[in-house]
Amino acid sequence: MTSMHVSFYEHVRQYHNLKKDIDKAISDVLESGQYVLGPTLERFEDELAEYFGMKKAVGLNSGTDALWLAFKALGIGPGDEVITVANTFFATAEAIWIAGAKAVFVDTDPQTNNIDVTKIEAAITPQTKAIVPVHLYGQPANMTAIAEIARRHNLLVVEDCAQAIGAAGDTFRIGELSDAVCASFIIQKNLGTFGDGGAVVTDRDDVAEQVRQLRNHGSPGRSVHSMGYNSRLDDLHAGILSVKLKHIDAWNDQRRALAAQYDEKLKGTILKLPYETPGYRHVYHLYVIETEPENRDAVIAFLNDAGIDAKCHYPIAIHKQEGYPWGQPADPAPHLPCTEANAAGCISLPMYPELTQDELQYTVDKILEWEQANA
Ligand SMILES: *Cc1c(COP(=O)(O)O)cnc(C)c1O
Repeated sequence: MTSMHVSFYEHVRQYHNLKKDIDKAISDVLESGQYVLGPTLERFEDELAEYFGMKKAVGLNSGTDALWLAFKALGIGPGDEVITVANTFFATAEAIWIAGAKAVFVDTDPQTNNIDVTKIEAAITPQTKAIVPVHLYGQPANMTAIAEIARRHNLLVVEDCAQAIGAAGDTFRIGELSDAVCASFIIQKNLGTFGDGGAVVTDRDDVAEQVRQLRNHGSPGRSVHSMGYNSRLDDLHAGILSVKLKHIDAWNDQRRALAAQYDEKLKGTILKLPYETPGYRHVYHLYVIETEPENRDAVIAFLNDAGIDAKCHYPIAIHKQEGYPWGQPADPAPHLPCTEANAAGCISLPMYPELTQDELQYTVDKILEWEQANA
């Protein structure tokens, strides 16, 4: 094998594998004549709630709106502090700021790259209202410890599950130990529509009802309004997601199988491989390895030159983004050494259920080739 192209995502393969069902789902919605807040959306919401084993799901236009509408529904706003991490997609912190609250960043655990639960309590002040753990790369944060801290300090917990649908802890399900779970269905997520989408999933009727109203101009019923927004999930996307939801467990199993192959083939190299907490179900939204910071860009460039779309999630931690904190209330310079080390060394390799054996082997071969030439 001399050269090939390995994409970071191959969404069209997934479409082709499900073409009959997806085309039918789309034409069913089109023929139904009901495209907004229709029966296809309601059905998907029921299926999603059932998948999570929770009472209610509310379909939204994005994971970002899922987060900040959940915050609003829970009464998180100006004057409140919300504890989260800085090695996440920007939207986690952005949603806290949109809600008017202050994001307080806690450093990460160097093994899992999730929030370091031993550092949460030191960040709690009288203004702290909530903890927002991010299940980074598809592995749940330590919800057992987080829920225990939240209980002791009377804090809310909202899970950012944008990367981890179908994941689980050792003794807990996602959503079991929190007030609300926020999901994203943008195409590149494990469960993605052909466009944007999101949802809040919760056992709390009051939260579900608040989010339901907020997504639709604050309307509890026709022509009655309190202040809200336009953040609905379209029925077309709901129809597509209903089809895909049936496959999510098998796709996640395939991601885990591919991750196990990467692990096996890359062990013994200088790379730091992903750590899976014993007993957890990591669903590998991303397969992230870490190099020495001085080698990171060279490895990515070498792979890119070989035709492999390697990327980096996330090269600039949120508190290091230019302009931070954008006039928002925030600590000017949090000290987050593990978060910054993660940002400096991370490399995301191609990872999706349709990745072929040849593509995975070619990627591994190129990494080994780089190591041989440079280590
Ligand atoms: C994708 C993502 C979001 C935002 O979701 P959108 O649907 O793109 O708005 C939030 N948090 C994390 C961790 C994400 O990966």
